[in-house]
Amino acid sequence: MLRNLVTELIGVLATGSAAATSPRSAGSELIDDLVAANRILADQGVLDGFGHVSARHDKDPDRFLLARSMAPALVTAGDIMEFDLDSNAIAGRGRTAYLERFIHGEIYRVNPNVLAIVHSHSPAVIPFGVVGVPLRPIFHLGGFLGGGVPVFEIRDNGGPATDMLIRNPALGAALAKSLGAAPVALMRGHGNVVVGRSIREAVFRAVYTEVNARLQSEALRLGQGQVVFLNEDEAHAAAETNSGQIGRPWELWKAKALAR
Ligand code: MN
Repeated sequence: MLRNLVTELIGVLATGSAAATSPRSAGSELIDDLVAANRILADQGVLDGFGHVSARHDKDPDRFLLARSMAPALVTAGDIMEFDLDSNAIAGRGRTAYLERFIHGEIYRVNPNVLAIVHSHSPAVIPFGVVGVPLRPIFHLGGFLGGGVPVFEIRDNGGPATDMLIRNPALGAALAKSLGAAPVALMRGHGNVVVGRSIREAVFRAVYTEVNARLQSEALRLGQGQVVFLNEDEAHAAAETNSGQIGRPWELWKAKALAR
């Protein structure tokens, strides 16, 4: 406690110097996981040149960590910035922040259970945001989708002429409201947002949201619209089981992504 306070004070006093690189006050394990998450999600085709992943600060719940504006595949620990819940950079040192950082700040603000967030344009998910066919759990690894996946309509809040981006706090708050307590929300004509109780859970869900969407599209075509989805009980039970298993794909994905 005292040590954190001292670290914080040093950071404040040294504003403008290298010591003000605030993420140093976050645990190095958290930063390492966030870097790995960036690389994994790029390697798995969830993020490309765009999209981002954040983590709530492990010592201050009113702050979060997010890379500077750059391609996720190239993120290293030195690129991680710290933000407050208004999505203002702390000790930004001239680094450019993602335009859509408000997605993160506004969701962390309203949902204390959320400890990590992925925003992506992962391609197989996009159709489900635009055709009125709900994204549903098609196999056990998509069980977390069982509670329903809301679709965020930016026109309801931003009017008919936005560039589709969540580029201010009001749009971030509207998206957070649309997401509610769900693990995933689709963003019509843009992408999706996935949350988790850890970086690993958010990554797991982001990868399997993309896989589920791909499989569901295939099944709908093959079955000409007739598909047996997991029912609510199956989805819930599968999600419970999977939440104890996420370390296994994480280690695999991480080894592959960091070997590049
Ligand atoms: Mn986006």
